[in-house]
Amino acid sequence: MDLDWSPEQQELRALARDFAEREIAPHVGEYDKAERFPREIVEQAAALGFAGGIVPAEYGGAGLDYVTYSGLIEEISRACHIVACALTFPSGLVGNSILTYGTEEQKQRYLKPLAQGETFAGAGVTEARSGTDVSDMDTTARRDGSDWVINGAKMWISFLDVATYYLTFAHLGADEKSGRKRICAFIVDADLKGVSTHPLKNKYGFRPLSTGELVLEDVRVPADALLGEEGQGFEIAMHSLDHGRFTVAAGGVGVVRACLERSVAYARERETFGQEIGRYQFVQDMIAKMVLGYETSKLLVLQAAWMKDQGKRSTRETSLAKWHATESAFEAAHLAIQVFGSYGYSAEYGIERYFRNARAPIIYEGTTQIHKMMQAEHALGYRRLNGRNGDVSPICSWAPALSPVHASA
Ligand SMILES: Cc1cc2nc3c(=O)[nH]c(=O)nc-3n(C[C@H](O)[C@H](O)[C@H](O)COP(=O)(O)OP(=O)(O)OC[C@H]3O[C@@H](n4cnc5c(N)ncnc54)[C@H](O)[C@@H]3O)c2cc1C
Repeated sequence: MDLDWSPEQQELRALARDFAEREIAPHVGEYDKAERFPREIVEQAAALGFAGGIVPAEYGGAGLDYVTYSGLIEEISRACHIVACALTFPSGLVGNSILTYGTEEQKQRYLKPLAQGETFAGAGVTEARSGTDVSDMDTTARRDGSDWVINGAKMWISFLDVATYYLTFAHLGADEKSGRKRICAFIVDADLKGVSTHPLKNKYGFRPLSTGELVLEDVRVPADALLGEEGQGFEIAMHSLDHGRFTVAAGGVGVVRACLERSVAYARERETFGQEIGRYQFVQDMIAKMVLGYETSKLLVLQAAWMKDQGKRSTRETSLAKWHATESAFEAAHLAIQVFGSYGYSAEYGIERYFRNARAPIIYEGTTQIHKMMQAEHALGYRRLNGRNGDVSPICSWAPALSPVHASA
């Protein structure tokens, strides 16, 4: 793997950095306080192709490779987590599901405008009673003639108010053999009869992004609203999480970097007892931890990106990157507040915003506990690549598989 950024990659990063500094950073405090979705900024970014991500050009995307894409996300989320989140949905959970499992018509109708930043979409996985345990959902779908009728409620759905459609999951009842719920994925237009939304206000972070309840009451969708095959919904959700988690991890890298850069600048400027606070070892300890968080998160994201670019399966590596980068982002934001003292606690400096926004990614797209469990189960040989009888996971992408002792477990 080549860790050098090519001149083209550097150019794109510079363009994104410049945009973030000019068009996002001066306004982020205002729209965060107002809990207002910065649609105009996201549209401006999309006009520069930043929403296109890894989506191929034929579907309105930028056709980037994952390594380049990770650099772009880092630059945007360094200024604002929420804008980065909006720009990555076309390559993440929603867009990637349609790209991988959609029909040509679904791609043209739903993915293309999403990748061009003309529309927004929500992903309806979580419910009031089931979050981590996706397969335990209560939302149902039943056939009625050639239509489907969906009933249920999704909780904590992002882009709730701005979405023109939702990628929603519902079950058809339990499978006779396995007893597991047969889950399907549907594309549900937001303006259909029976669809209603109830935003949650005053949440801890991610305030500009409307999040809340999506209620589906006898929502009738045509046969072609089904994404993939009947019963393929769980597979679709898991496949797409692999991509969503990647974008969340890359966003985390940008947050660590922002906290590190801001802390370094402040530590060189603020003086106590006649010298810069950066001269004190306790402050250096905080800076050093942020450096470690940045470098390690970045390398894990690059590893996952490189594997995706090689067409290798990277579920474990992406999970590791997501776990580490989101925890590092939260730690960096926590430390940055400490470096800034009381000013870090004030909205004026924007450091506390990084802290608030860095908390949610530790919960969504797999909690930290789930990622830890996944890593341990791979190492122990309890979880294998490509299902029960697949190969034992390698320790890292270029290392051999774990020893035969583990392989026989
Ligand atoms: C800002 C924000 C935006 C979101 N956006 C979306 C969205 O757009 N679409 C969507 O569908 N969802 C969204 N979510 C929801 C999020 O994905 C879920 O909250 C998450 O999956 C966790 O589910 P839960 O809250 O039900 O927690 P639970 O699943 O109830 O877990 C509670 C606790 O138990 C732990 N736990 C659970 N099971 C295990 C286990 N087997 N082993 C060890 N520990 C376990 C968890 O780690 C956690 O600490 C969003 C959440 C937030 C905060």
